[in-house]
Amino acid sequence: PPFVDFRDVWLAYNEELLRANHFAVEGIDLQVKRGEFIAIVGPSGCGKSTFMKLTTGLRMPSMGRILIDGQPVTGPLKISGMAFQASSLLPWRTTVENVLLPLEIVEPYRSSFKQKKKEYEERARRLLQKVGLAGYEDKFPWQLSGGMQQRASICRALIHEPKMLLLDEPFGALDAFTREELWCILRDLHAEQGFNVILVTHDLRESVFLADSVYVMSKSPGRFVAKREIEFPRP
Ligand code: ADP
Ligand code: ADP
Repeated sequence: PPFVDFRDVWLAYNEELLRANHFAVEGIDLQVKRGEFIAIVGPSGCGKSTFMKLTTGLRMPSMGRILIDGQPVTGPLKISGMAFQASSLLPWRTTVENVLLPLEIVEPYRSSFKQKKKEYEERARRLLQKVGLAGYEDKFPWQLSGGMQQRASICRALIHEPKMLLLDEPFGALDAFTREELWCILRDLHAEQGFNVILVTHDLRESVFLADSVYVMSKSPGRFVAKREIEFPRP
């Protein structure tokens, strides 16, 4: 069965919009295989963020059905990790403390956080090393460059070993060199750990470089109008 399964999903953001038949997305149908890396491209306002909110259970559909890993989505999903354009690291916490945050919040880690803190911290440090942040573990966000902050927020998104990583324009604010470096890191992490990735991006090169399939969302109805599978070897 697909890992992500949208069947004719519609969303109006409130009652008034629903009565006016004003939907932010109209009839999304999408099936994503387990472990697949997909990218979604499309113009501003077409419904990409709405799709992400539905996928993580931050919003419930007005109509239609969403299954993630075979389960109906009934509320915010803890099997996913998220990173956005702004890294949103907490400024009063060090890099490693920021990365640990999900383990303090999400079960089954939360209940054993106090006892296992040392072990979790080791895990966070290993992950930070893997993305090239060795030596920056105990610095504060303001002591890191934008690219380093994004690496840290990707680590934070992955620390609780989620089955799915959701990325909304995560590299948009970075210079071209840093961006391509992060592409490679993300591609390696995905190849190694096999989680699903949903990447929203405005950068077509990025989508083709990273994703197994690229979906194009159309302006007015927020439907997927095209799907392109990327063949190996990649460009
Ligand atoms: P994108 O991420 O592709 O820019 P969005 O999902 O943010 O698109 O928006 C899709 C549509 O839903 C737009 O018309 C937008 O104005 C509307 N929308 C988004 N968020 C809200 C909200 N919280 N309340 C009402 N309308 C919203
Ligand atoms: P993005 O940068 O992904 O396109 P937007 O600028 O569309 O995001 O939205 C920024 C925030 O404002 C989101 O949280 C979204 O839910 C909210 N929002 C967007 N459009 C509307 C709207 N028409 N009414 C109310 N809230 C909205």
